[in-house]
Amino acid sequence: MPAHAKLNKNGLAGKSLFWYLLQMSRLILSGFCLGLLIALAGCATAPSTVNVKDTSKSFTTVVIDAGHGGRDNGAYRRYGPPEKVIALDVAKRVERKLHDADLRTVMTRSGDVFIPLDERVEIENRENNAVFVSIHFNDARRSGIKGFETYYHAPESAELARRIQSKLLTIPHSANRGVHVANFRVLRKANQPAVLVECGFLSNRSDGRQARDADYREELADKIAEAIVEQRHGTTGYRAPSRTTVLEPLPPSEGPGLAPSTLRGD
Ligand code: ZN
Repeated sequence: MPAHAKLNKNGLAGKSLFWYLLQMSRLILSGFCLGLLIALAGCATAPSTVNVKDTSKSFTTVVIDAGHGGRDNGAYRRYGPPEKVIALDVAKRVERKLHDADLRTVMTRSGDVFIPLDERVEIENRENNAVFVSIHFNDARRSGIKGFETYYHAPESAELARRIQSKLLTIPHSANRGVHVANFRVLRKANQPAVLVECGFLSNRSDGRQARDADYREELADKIAEAIVEQRHGTTGYRAPSRTTVLEPLPPSEGPGLAPSTLRGD
């Protein structure tokens, strides 16, 4: 309680009711302003307003969130397929690899459907011992921008975010755009560790070309899965599968110049 509240209380004797009401309303107003300031500060910075349970070392389930879907294409540039298609492809590859490592998985979507952000968070928050990994590809106005970015909100998610980012950076010629705190809704509202991975820029020629290649997407999934398993079991926990995951080919609507190599791993 602020110091002046005590003074007002002590000075109450002999004062009019009007004076008392005036002081009370001032107090309430200053309390309200303080509350508003705290709320605003909470929005602008971590730590999160949601109580985050630290399951980062104990989780048994991984909620895998393929970004966008349905009417929401995500990033769509001529160098790559629509973001929603390859995000789902990488997510499915991660799913299979985590199964191989005996982790339970929950997909927020398994097909080309639109899922609102709040529903994605609900799917995670329904679990009681999970981490949430959202998979996206990036877009920028400047085509020269390339590389990986990983985002988190709550401090409990930082280690997983750093692990995924540094694992992705073991891919030859990859560019590091850093690990950042962000206020994205799927991160901010998650009650367990949650990260969002941007697997390269579809607005960049080389990132976009790689994203079209199934072998490359397999490698992305391998790195993400490896980081998740290491987060849970330590560095000895993960063995990369000897053969690539077999997935259905991408739909034939990826625009001109779809590399034949896209079909190699499928
Ligand atoms: Zn996205």
